[in-house]
Amino acid sequence: MLIVMKNSATAANIDAVVSAIQKKGFSAEKLPGKLRTAIGVMGNEKYVEQDQLLNLEGVKEIIHVTKPYKRVSREYKAENTLVKINDDVIFGTDEPVIIAGPCAVESQEQFTAIAEYVQKCGAKMLRGGAFKPRTSPYAFRGLKEEGLKIMSKVGKNLGMPIVSEILSLEDLPLFEKYVDMIQIGARNMQNFDLLEHVADLKKPILLKRGMSATMEEYLLAAEYILNRGNSKVVLCERGIRTFENSTRNILDLNTLALIQIESHLPIIADPSHAAGRFDVVPLLAKAGIAAGANGLIIEVHNNPAEALSDGKQSLTLKNFEKLMKELNLISS
Ligand code: PEP
Ligand code: MN
Repeated sequence: MLIVMKNSATAANIDAVVSAIQKKGFSAEKLPGKLRTAIGVMGNEKYVEQDQLLNLEGVKEIIHVTKPYKRVSREYKAENTLVKINDDVIFGTDEPVIIAGPCAVESQEQFTAIAEYVQKCGAKMLRGGAFKPRTSPYAFRGLKEEGLKIMSKVGKNLGMPIVSEILSLEDLPLFEKYVDMIQIGARNMQNFDLLEHVADLKKPILLKRGMSATMEEYLLAAEYILNRGNSKVVLCERGIRTFENSTRNILDLNTLALIQIESHLPIIADPSHAAGRFDVVPLLAKAGIAAGANGLIIEVHNNPAEALSDGKQSLTLKNFEKLMKELNLISS
């Protein structure tokens, strides 16, 4: 960080800034110039809050040399982070990991039928919601613990890890017990308390991008988790809101690509929640992989017309099978 002083700043103003920096535990280096003096801040492991410094007399502006996020950035760690769920499922390699399953777990039969099928098609991990954040309070909100039990049992039988979304701090023990990876959904991306408590479980986390979050806000949310000593974070671009309303959201491939440059964390794409309709999901899935995604999370249902949640965007078993064949062609 660089603090640029006004050219009218006095030596006393400059010294006051230097000691304010030192009080924060950082070292300060005066960089006198022809017109004005700048002060370089060194040794800041973390992002330095700038407001107090900006208020000091003689300060013109503050230039951030480093990004507001640190631990998630490529500057901090150059090589890709690999997030290992088990020996078979590792995010961050050249091999995309496909996660598939229904939006919501509805019954043992439903989940088993979908899980067995997607596994045969090559999916490596299962998704399913047991605690569902629904726009309408009258909609199906999930089977709760029963849903997690079903997922856990089916996942164990098939040897497939499971991921499910947590909504509330009070459910932490259930998620610790039943799931291999904890999903923090778009609506909770900035629920900072939840981020920290989930991070403390030290399990892998699937952190979805908030539907209105900028890349910077998104990476700062991930920073909360890494700051708690948990770097097992997989990012997920799931579509953002724009003026365009012909699809549910817009899969932001720009940010999906840029994050791979900005951050060492793996990132996957969720074409289902981006599209909101099943017919564009396969094309978006392929676009996500082409843009470098380390995997996909796709909603699949054995009877989308009767699905209790997100049936409109769910692929049928056959459509999922077709997509997996096409994806294999792309990656081979
Ligand atoms: C989901 O995965 O079912 C879900 C609710 O996703 P998002 O948080 O991206 O809306
Ligand atoms: Mn859904």
